[in-house]
Amino acid sequence: MKAFAMLGIGKTGWIEKERPKCGPLDAICRPVALAPCTSDVHTVWEGALGNRHNMILGHESVGEVVEAGSLVKDFKPGDRVIVPAITPDWNSLEAQAGYSMHSGGMLAGWKFSNFKDGVFSEYFHVNDADGNLALLPEELDPGTACMLADMVPTGFHGVELADLQFGDDVVVIGIGPVGLMSVAAAALRGAARLFAVGSRPNCIQIAKEYGATDIIDYHKGDIADQIMEKTGGKGVDRIVIAGGDADTFAQAIRMLKPGGKIGNVNYLGEGDFIKIPRIEWGCGMGHKFIAGGLMPGGRLRMEKLTSLVTNGRLDPGKLITHRFDGLGKVEDALMLMKDKPRDLIKPVVVIK
Ligand code: NDP
Ligand code: ZN
Repeated sequence: MKAFAMLGIGKTGWIEKERPKCGPLDAICRPVALAPCTSDVHTVWEGALGNRHNMILGHESVGEVVEAGSLVKDFKPGDRVIVPAITPDWNSLEAQAGYSMHSGGMLAGWKFSNFKDGVFSEYFHVNDADGNLALLPEELDPGTACMLADMVPTGFHGVELADLQFGDDVVVIGIGPVGLMSVAAAALRGAARLFAVGSRPNCIQIAKEYGATDIIDYHKGDIADQIMEKTGGKGVDRIVIAGGDADTFAQAIRMLKPGGKIGNVNYLGEGDFIKIPRIEWGCGMGHKFIAGGLMPGGRLRMEKLTSLVTNGRLDPGKLITHRFDGLGKVEDALMLMKDKPRDLIKPVVVIK
C-alpha cells in the first residue's frame, strides 16, 4: 500500500508498505478524511520522538472500516468512523486507574505515528475497535468530523485539567486550533471573563466567535502584566496552556489567583526544567495547581463530543481554513502545517 512517512529527522516521502494485519479485537480502516497536526511537525522536524525511519505519519482521521476482527461486536466493514488520535488499551491497569492515555506506559495510549504506523496511508490499523471507534453520524461532514479526532478532545481536556467552574475568569494561552477548542470548551463550561492569548487575525476573530471576551497579544508585552492590569491586580481563576514557550508557566503562575488551577496541553519541546517563580507561588504554599495531560481518547469521549456537534452546541468546522482532495495531497497539507502561513488554522484532506 502507498503511505506518506517520516524517513528520518527533517525528511518525509511516499513509501510502499505492507497492509497492516487485523487482530481479533482490531479494525483495518481506509481514510475518508485526514488532518496533519502541529505534533506531526514536532515529530518530523524537531525529532520529538527521536529518529524514525519509514514511520507512516498522521494521527487525525475519519475512516471507513474495511475489516473488523472476529471479536469486534459493534463495527463492520462499510461503517464510517471517527478515529481518536489516542487509542488506549482499555483493559490495561492504567485505563482502569482512570489514565487511559498512559495505557502500557507514560503517553503510550498515543500509538499512531509513535508506537506504530500512523494514518496517512491507504489503510491503517486501529487497536481495540469497540473501545476506540465512534460511528460517524450521517449528517456530519467528514472534514469537520476529523477535528474530533484530536483538536476538540485535546482543547476540551485542557479545560477539564484546569477544572473550570461556573463564573471563573479564565485565560487560554495560545489560540491555534487546540486553544480555540479550549476557548469553546471554556465558554460551554461557564467561564465568565475569557481572555484569549494570540495574534493571528483569523484566530482572534474565531476566538471571539467561540466566546472570548478579551484578546491579549503576547507581542505587546508580558502576558501576566497585561492580565494583572486588566483584572485590577487580582489575576484569574483558571488558565489553559495551549501554546507558548519556556516562559509561559512562569507567566501563568504569576497571573493565577491562590487556589487557581492550570491545565496544560501544550507540548514542551525544549530544555530540561520548567521554572516556577517562588514568590508568586506563595513560597511553595500558594495553592496554585498545575496539571498537564495528553487527551484520554476512546469511544465514549468521541461519542459525547460528536453529540455536541450534532446538537449544534459546537462547530469545529470553523477551524478548517484549507481543504484538499485525495490522499496524495496529504503532503501539501503537512507542509502547510510546517510553514504555518498566518491565514492557516487547520488544513484537512478529504478522500472520496
Ligand atoms: P499552533 O502553533 O497553531 O498555535 C499556538 C498558539 O500559541 C498560537 O495562538 C500562537 O500565537 C500562540 N503562541 C506562540 N508563542 C506564544 C507565546 N510566547 N506566548 C503566548 N502564546 C504564544 O498550535 P496548535 O493549536 O496546533 O497546538 C498547540 C499545542 O498543542 C502544540 O504544542 C501541540 O503539539 C499540542 N498538542 C497537544 C496534544 C495533547 O494531547 N496534549 C494533542 C495535539 C496537539 P499566534 O496567534 O501569534 O500564532
Ligand atoms: Zn494531532
